Amino acid sequence: MPAQTRPAALRDPQGRVLDYLRLAVTDRCNLRCRYCMPADGIALVDHDDVLRFEEMERLCRLLVTRGVRKIRITGGEPLVRRGVVDFMARLGALPGSPEILLTTNGVLLRGRLDDLRLAGVRRINLSLDSLDPATFETIARRDVLADVLPLLDEIPAAGLGLKVNVVVLPGVNDHELPDFVELTRDRDLTVRFIEPMPFDGTGLLAGRSIDGDGILEILNSRVHLERAVGDPRGVDEIYAVEGWRGRVGLIRGHSRTFCATCSRLRIDAQGALRTCLYGAARVSLRTLIRTGATDDELIAAIGAAVAGRFDDGHAAARDRDDPAHQSMASIGG
Ligand code: SAM
Ligand code: SF4
Repeated sequence: MPAQTRPAALRDPQGRVLDYLRLAVTDRCNLRCRYCMPADGIALVDHDDVLRFEEMERLCRLLVTRGVRKIRITGGEPLVRRGVVDFMARLGALPGSPEILLTTNGVLLRGRLDDLRLAGVRRINLSLDSLDPATFETIARRDVLADVLPLLDEIPAAGLGLKVNVVVLPGVNDHELPDFVELTRDRDLTVRFIEPMPFDGTGLLAGRSIDGDGILEILNSRVHLERAVGDPRGVDEIYAVEGWRGRVGLIRGHSRTFCATCSRLRIDAQGALRTCLYGAARVSLRTLIRTGATDDELIAAIGAAVAGRFDDGHAAARDRDDPAHQSMASIGG
């Protein structure tokens, strides 16, 4: 398509371009991470209310025409949904060839790395909160660390980029921060420490919280990190130990220090569109699709949601009349 006829990018009132979609393909999960959901899980959506892959593909195709370049497949646990790898391949083959990324707990990932690479996936975010089996089980409420640990070597060996996401839980896994940094000594990967957020399905995070400064304080007392250059539009501050191969990131998700450059849209498994993690859903794209909306009507609804985007996550949260009691698994974290 010649540049002059290309439809305008999705731009919010603050001038931020939204070119990154986080798409939750399911709200189901095979773990029960204590910061994400209660022990007996979250109330699951009826299968009929979850978007079908064809519906998701239609939305992605439309969004790509409006400048979305990156689509992250998330959930719930994306790999529990049958057919998800083929679906990712179809998204990667859309006109404009958007970058397709995956966030996963890794439990079902071993043996599927070649399929993912063939499907066009280049990078994987692996959520891994402990390197110790007992602590892992305390956090995830499942004893499956052995299924995940080999991936730290297998993902890079399969030629895929790797970021390891660690939610820091004071008194639970904060003593392991130096062990996680140690992973960056010889491996070409990034370990990212994340502030816990109150999206655990109850609105009240069980246990103490910690912010980015608190995480840095622990790190600096144990290892010598230097600030490094990261993606200016990324959500993570990047650090590294001099001479080590990998990098260390810090994500101040709860402090919300990166809203000024946030480029993210979210569509949850039911097809609700959010322009901010902390805000309410703006429109049900599923309802529009299933009542016969045309592509132009869908684009108009998405454009209207983007036009109503708040300055930052604090303002978006203030606008909600209900406190955010949702789990990240249902929002599409
Ligand atoms: N199941 C997949 C996984 O765990 O990678 C994808 C979905 S999960 C909701 C996506 C990310 O959200 C994970 O990295 C997880 O650690 C993070 N997350 C979930 N609840 C969180 C919370 N309350 N605070 C901070 N991060 C959270
Ligand atoms: Fe499942 Fe991911 Fe939530 Fe853990 S963080 S319970 S793996 S959706």
